[in-house]
Amino acid sequence: MTDISSPASAPAAFGGATHLECTRCGTRYESETLQRLSPCCEKPLYPRYDLAAIGARLRREDLAGRSADLWRYAELLPVRNPAHAVRLGEGWTPMIETPRLATRLGIGRCWVKDEGQNPTASFKARGLCMAISRAAELGIREVAIPSAGNAGSATAAYAAAAGMAAHVVVPRDTPHPIIQEMLALGADVELFDGLITDCAARVGEGVREHGWFDLSTLKEPYRVEGKKTMGYEVAEQLGWTLPDVIIYPTGGGTGLVGMWKAFDEMEAMGWIGSARPRMISVQAAGCAPIVRAFEEGTEYAEPWRDAHTYASGLRVPRAVGDFLILDAVRRSGGSALAVSDEEMREWTPIVGRDTGIFCAPEGAATAVAAARLRESGAIGPDDSVVLFNTGSGLKYVI
Ligand SMILES: *Cc1c(COP(=O)(O)O)cnc(C)c1O
Repeated sequence: MTDISSPASAPAAFGGATHLECTRCGTRYESETLQRLSPCCEKPLYPRYDLAAIGARLRREDLAGRSADLWRYAELLPVRNPAHAVRLGEGWTPMIETPRLATRLGIGRCWVKDEGQNPTASFKARGLCMAISRAAELGIREVAIPSAGNAGSATAAYAAAAGMAAHVVVPRDTPHPIIQEMLALGADVELFDGLITDCAARVGEGVREHGWFDLSTLKEPYRVEGKKTMGYEVAEQLGWTLPDVIIYPTGGGTGLVGMWKAFDEMEAMGWIGSARPRMISVQAAGCAPIVRAFEEGTEYAEPWRDAHTYASGLRVPRAVGDFLILDAVRRSGGSALAVSDEEMREWTPIVGRDTGIFCAPEGAATAVAAARLRESGAIGPDDSVVLFNTGSGLKYVI
């Protein structure tokens, strides 16, 4: 076995999941063949682990000194053989305390988790790293993905690193830097007139005609496992405490539901207690299906018509994990709110000057949300708040 840790610490033991579980009804499936949505409910499948056994032999202190990427949590990831881990430096992004932004917002403490520092400059690297590593382990040689942009570049990068063919279908108006990046990484890129949901239909044709493996959000079980490592990192980087509030820009919602899963796993291993942050889901005013469902009190979200926003990661009219997002937001005592493109444009340089981080519009949206929630009193003056900057602003420069 490859030792991915520093010599000072015990090596991370790759293990893998014990089974997959339907997120709707709990039916179990074995995890050694490729699965997509659950056959029972057509809903996302979650990998499950033997947390009692892992918790008995792995203490949270054992992680100190391990590799500075998401593979430091290898025991809690689905890849079984270290040789299949495709690694480009994903995860373990900095948690940057931002006192001047905190003062501006009128809150106790504020951090930006800067996901723009991932490979391909967005947190999509986490999910696609895991999905492609595990797909490689299960024998897949050709993958496809519909994307609003960043998932496409992460797919292109990890597929290239794994020696796989990648087909990416993106809307024609996807930011140019992202299209050039995907081409440079060797992906077969198709520009499509329409939204990510239309691109998904196009990928569906390729799946039927050519047998491509579809990596769409939550339609295979492993992207969420990469994204959940953000939850482990928040806890570890804050000294095994969680903040009062986490603000997350939500498209398909994998990161939000992934962190929620991570919190439950950490509690089951005795790494944290039962307290949870209030999870705040931010969307764009031009595409806010989760916000509307939250306000109307429904379990699922109706698809959003005529979705538009320049924050391409938020231009997701329909999320297959809608009920998981809404459940986590509600059970955490959080909320969902929409912000306008104008507000994102206005706050990008405000965050920049206060913090030194050139954030993506989706990241700026979290600062807008924090300001608004502070005004309404939903965030108090002593609250600690983590904002997720999910990508680099450089990817949106025209
Ligand atoms: C994809 C994306 C999002 C939304 O992420 P989900 O986990 O799908 O909700 C937010 N910001 C950026 C920059 C993205 O690329």
